[in-house]
Amino acid sequence: MVLELHLGDELLLKRTHPCGNDRWSVERLGADIGMRCTKCGRTVMVPRSHLERRVRQVVRQPRNPC
Ligand SMILES: [Zn+2]
Repeated sequence: MVLELHLGDELLLKRTHPCGNDRWSVERLGADIGMRCTKCGRTVMVPRSHLERRVRQVVRQPRNPC
């Protein structure tokens, strides 16, 4: 399965962060995905292949249709 990601999307992961949060927002796209914990603000870079196995759900953020 290919994970389709856009900047600003919210990711629900299978494992929670030590701060107790399981939601991350997408900040950088590429071979590595940069994401920020929406609770504690910590950012991490994760290889895309790694992330594809850990994401439970992608919450697409509404955006302007242009
Ligand atoms: Zn956190």
